[in-house]
Amino acid sequence: MNYFSTRDSGPVTLDVALRKGIADDGGLFLPQALPSFAVSDFDGSDSIPGVAHVLLRPFFEGSNLIDDLDAILAETFKFPIPATALPAAAGDVSLLELYHGPTAAFKDVGAGFLAACLSRLQEDTASPLTILVATSGDTGGAVAAAFDARPGMRVVVLFPDGRVSERQAHQLCCWSDNVLSLKVKGSFDECQALVKTAMADTELTLTHRFSSANSINIGRLLPQTTYYADASIRHYRRTGNEPGFIIPTGNLGNALACVMAREMGLPIGPVILATNANRTIADYFETLEWLPRASLQTLASAMDVGDPSNMERLRNLVGEADVLRERLGVLSVTDDEIQAAIKSDFAEFGFATCPHTATATHTWRQLEPEISAAHDWILVATAHPAKFETIVEPIIGETVPLPPELREILSRPARSVTIRPDIAELALAIDDI
Ligand SMILES: *Cc1c(COP(=O)(O)O)cnc(C)c1O
Repeated sequence: MNYFSTRDSGPVTLDVALRKGIADDGGLFLPQALPSFAVSDFDGSDSIPGVAHVLLRPFFEGSNLIDDLDAILAETFKFPIPATALPAAAGDVSLLELYHGPTAAFKDVGAGFLAACLSRLQEDTASPLTILVATSGDTGGAVAAAFDARPGMRVVVLFPDGRVSERQAHQLCCWSDNVLSLKVKGSFDECQALVKTAMADTELTLTHRFSSANSINIGRLLPQTTYYADASIRHYRRTGNEPGFIIPTGNLGNALACVMAREMGLPIGPVILATNANRTIADYFETLEWLPRASLQTLASAMDVGDPSNMERLRNLVGEADVLRERLGVLSVTDDEIQAAIKSDFAEFGFATCPHTATATHTWRQLEPEISAAHDWILVATAHPAKFETIVEPIIGETVPLPPELREILSRPARSVTIRPDIAELALAIDDI
């Protein structure tokens, strides 16, 4: 399988696309063509790695990694991804729990897969590959966990001092010697700008081999198609129905994977994007004009994106707003509605949801009755509520129990280096790893 940029350059192999992250023309890599599947192609595959093997193998044709595919999948899917029936709900509604990975958010799937691929493509361990990652919270932890202690790989995580939760800060700073955690005295945007400056700095790039692991890497996207395939096939085998999915959406990576799975023939019904108060996608569907803007801070902070970069892939794959809005739904959810949804979820389901997941449960409650009744629904849970306990606990009036993976991480010692958003300070810190 070859890969082309959304701005048309290419072709390149999967290995090049993984290693580069972003195409030289500034576009995002997409496979040349999506393979097609029938549910019967997955007969006999009843584990997630088994489904992933069938689904992802065509994407690895021509890659040096093809013989390692099963090992890569075994490393990626070390944790369960169950769809749990929601007790009090009318109709067939379940919650797809994407939060059982090491850092309790769905980004563990993409980060784990990318790390498993890149570490195998990195043959020269004498000259390590340094992954730079700016994070507003969840991404940095998932990437650090995925690359932790891998030979020949280093990770530099930059996060804005005082703007991530205490638990998030801890999980950015509790890794092995190959992970450098930098607390930056500035904003997330300044962290991101610093990464860009470093990757373009001629002096730094003479001494370091940099790469990035942000969500536009095709290696983060591909494995995410797997849980949509697995959940929809299981549902279809059980009921004969194609479930609809409601997906908390920020940069559109997670939802794009669901759309790709549906394009590949998997039994998926309606797909609805639930965003927070950042309305760029909702306004695009409404006005047909693409107007990216600065992001607003909301309670669902991992979705605070005003310029979702994966829209470029979605438009390339499916079409412009007039086509997209026929194929996808979108609802923008306010902070007040997120808080109300967390409260209703706790009352109705008997457990807490995180603020991101609450955008999906709110959207489900807002469905018109005939649409709601016409389909079975799978609501996507993107993070464990214990990661956002300072928001969730006051609303439900109870402590959210820590899941074992978070308890383990929070028991480790944490360390970080503080820098100003300054390239010279970053360079010094990197030299010290
Ligand atoms: C990153 C993230 C999202 C948004 O996912 P995208 O792929 O950027 O749309 C939603 N919820 C949580 C918990 C996240 O960490």
